[in-house]
Amino acid sequence: MLNSVRARLTLWYVLVFGLLLLGFSIPTYVLLSRSLYDRVDQSLSNAAQATASEFLSEIKEFNGDAGLGAAETLNELRLPNVYTAICADDRILASNLPEAQEPSLRQVTASERSNDQTSFRTMEGFGEEGARMVVLPLEAGGKRYFVAVAEPLLGLVEQVALIRRIFYVGFPATLLVAAIGGFLLARKSLAPVLEMSEQAQRIGATNLQERLTVSNPRDELGRLAGVFNELLSRLDRSFGNMREFMADASHELRTPLSIIRGEADVALSQQRDPAEYNETLTIIQDEARRLTLIVDDMLSLARADAGQRPLNVQDFYLNDLVEEACRAMQVLALRKGVALTPMLTEDVSFRGDEDLLRRLMINLLDNALKFTPSGGSVSAQLVCEPSMVKIIVLDTGAGIPAEAVPHVFERFYRIDKSRSRADGGSGLGLAIARWVAEAHKGSIDLVSSPGHGSKFTVSLPR
Ligand code: ADP
Repeated sequence: MLNSVRARLTLWYVLVFGLLLLGFSIPTYVLLSRSLYDRVDQSLSNAAQATASEFLSEIKEFNGDAGLGAAETLNELRLPNVYTAICADDRILASNLPEAQEPSLRQVTASERSNDQTSFRTMEGFGEEGARMVVLPLEAGGKRYFVAVAEPLLGLVEQVALIRRIFYVGFPATLLVAAIGGFLLARKSLAPVLEMSEQAQRIGATNLQERLTVSNPRDELGRLAGVFNELLSRLDRSFGNMREFMADASHELRTPLSIIRGEADVALSQQRDPAEYNETLTIIQDEARRLTLIVDDMLSLARADAGQRPLNVQDFYLNDLVEEACRAMQVLALRKGVALTPMLTEDVSFRGDEDLLRRLMINLLDNALKFTPSGGSVSAQLVCEPSMVKIIVLDTGAGIPAEAVPHVFERFYRIDKSRSRADGGSGLGLAIARWVAEAHKGSIDLVSSPGHGSKFTVSLPR
C-alpha cells in the first residue's frame, strides 16, 4: 500500500492533521477544565465572603455571642448547592455539612486558620468526585474563627467528562473525514499522472509523433508533460535521422554493389579474353575500394555517435600536420594539374587528436582538389589567434551554391550526386570533418562563391 503515492500522501496528511488537532485540543481541554475549576473556586470564595460579613454583623447583634451569631448566619444565609460551616478555633459553631463530613473541618490546618487569605482544598466524600472547600479565616472581638464553604464536584466532573467524551469521539471522526478528504484530494491531484503514464505506455517506435496531453503547461505536472514531450520530439528526430541515414547508406552501398554484380555477371556470361577480365576486375577492385571507404566512414561516424571514439589527445605541431597532409595529397594535385601550396610560417604547437585532425585535413584537401579544375590552385594555411587556431583550406574550384552551403556537412549530402560519386567520395567526408572539429570543441565554417572557389575554416580552441 505504501508503494502508492496516493496512500503515502493521505497518510502524511492524516498524520500532520492529527498532530495539529492534538496540539489544538489538548491545550483547549486543559484550559477549559481549569477555567471550570476556577469558576467553582471563585463562587466558593464569594459565598465565604458573604457568610463572613453576615457572621460579623450577627455577632454584633447577639452582643458577642459567636455561637448564636453563627447559627443565625446559617439560618439567614441559605446559599444554593453549597454547604457552610462556621468554626471557632476549637469547635464547630454552626454547620449544615452532612455529619459524616464534619471531621474534615478538623483537618483544616493551623496555618489555613491563621492565614489572612482564603485557601482551597479538595475534600474526600460527597460521592466519588469529592468536594471543593474554601477556608476563610476571620477575627471578631479578639477571637479567631473561620468560615468553610464546600461545593460537591459532581456537576463539574460531569462537565469535564463530557468535554473529554466530545474530544474522544470528535478526534477519530475528524481524522476519518480528513483521511477520506485527503485520499480524494490525492486521487484527484494524481489522476493526470496516471493518465500521462497510460499515454506514455502507448507510445512506441511506431507512433513517436504522439504527445502527452498538457492540460496546464504552467503547473508542475504540465511542466513534466512538456519535458516528456520534448524528449519524445528529440527521440522522434533522432529516429527520423537514423531512418534517413539507413536509407542513404543502403542507397550508397547499393550502387557499387550493383556495379560489382553487373560486371561479374557480364564477365561470366561468356568466355572473355584476359584483357577484358583484367578490365572487369579493375572495375570490381575500384568499387570494392569505394565500398570499404564508405563502410569505414560510416563506422567512424557510428562510433562517434555512440561516444565510442574517445579523443587520443597528444601534443604535436599543427603546421607539421598540415604540411604532411599537403605532401600526401601532392600526387593527386599533380595528376589533376592543380597547384597545392601549404602556406605556413611558424610552428604552432597544439594539443589534440592528431589522427583525427589529419583525417579532417585530408578530407578538406581531397574535396578541394576534387572540385578544382586543372590550372586552379588550393592552399592550406594556419592563422594563430590568442585563444584559437584556424586552419583555412582555400580553393579556386567550382564553389558551392548558397542554398547548398547549410547542407554540405550533412551525411551523404552531395550537390552533384553522380559527379561526386564518380569522384570516389563516400558523401561523409565533411560530416566527419565537422565531427572532428566539434570533438575538439571547435567548429567548421564555409564561405563559397560559386564559380570562384570555396573557403573552409576550421576553428580550434587552443
Ligand atoms: P563527398 O564524398 O561527396 O566529397 P563530402 O561530405 O566531402 O562528400 O562533401 C559533400 C558535398 O559538398 C560534395 O559532394 C560536394 O558537392 C560539396 N563540396 C565539398 N567540398 C567542396 C569544395 N571544396 N568545392 C565544391 N564543392 C564541395
